[in-house]
Amino acid sequence: MKVLVPVKRVIDYNVKVRVKPDQTGVDLANVKMSMNPFDEISVEEAVRMKEAGIATEVVVVSIGPQQAQETIRTALAMGADRGILIKTDATVEPLAVAKLLAKVVADEKPDLVLVGKQAIDDDSNQTGQMLAALLDWPQGTFAYKIEKDGDALKVTREVDGGLQTVKLKTPAVVTVDLRLNEPRYASLPNIMKAKKKEIAEKSPADYGVDITPRLTVVKVTEPAARSGGIKVEDVAALVAKLKTAGAV
Ligand code: AMP
Repeated sequence: MKVLVPVKRVIDYNVKVRVKPDQTGVDLANVKMSMNPFDEISVEEAVRMKEAGIATEVVVVSIGPQQAQETIRTALAMGADRGILIKTDATVEPLAVAKLLAKVVADEKPDLVLVGKQAIDDDSNQTGQMLAALLDWPQGTFAYKIEKDGDALKVTREVDGGLQTVKLKTPAVVTVDLRLNEPRYASLPNIMKAKKKEIAEKSPADYGVDITPRLTVVKVTEPAARSGGIKVEDVAALVAKLKTAGAV
């Protein structure tokens, strides 16, 4: 099975995000960027499939600026075989990402596309679903477990209050959730090896995809600041406070 894994370069999850004073977006100047955490999980899963003899090749693809090459290198150091960078400095919305990925799928003909369930910068949770729709392929979202079942895939999904298992014919799109696995750290020898792996460079125009945004961001605001806590003497005082605050 050939596996395609899209990886997005996003603000590192440890960074405290600051909203720009003009409320047009978040401040990206001098901010640490990393691979979207859900994409680390998909790379890990694809590499485990390769180690188990289920996957034959793992190809990673990133749409973003030149620096997204570092994100691809990280995936290569984790064990992916080769990368494709679709270079653009523009903001690329999920529909445009899905259209570009559909073109990569047409070229690469993977049996499985392992997508993150959501990118932690835009929190869209749309790309995998849009890609499956564009390709007219089956999809399993929020994967907790992925197993090969003959020619099909059995995907156990995280749903409200439990798990649901679905069987998908391949080729298919699966979006991965947090509990699927724990991604590995790349070892130094593998980081060195990754430097020699191939990364093809493309542009959205090479695929004939118009990436002009269709959405307008009206404004971005910080979450409401939490009011400070207070100390109370005993339970009776706590209940009285909660009553006057209208909480009980
Ligand atoms: P989203 O729909 O934006 O929440 O993103 C869901 C997933 O789509 C991510 O976890 C990635 O696997 C993939 N994706 C989104 N944007 C990109 C991008 N620019 N490059 C590569 N993969 C992407």
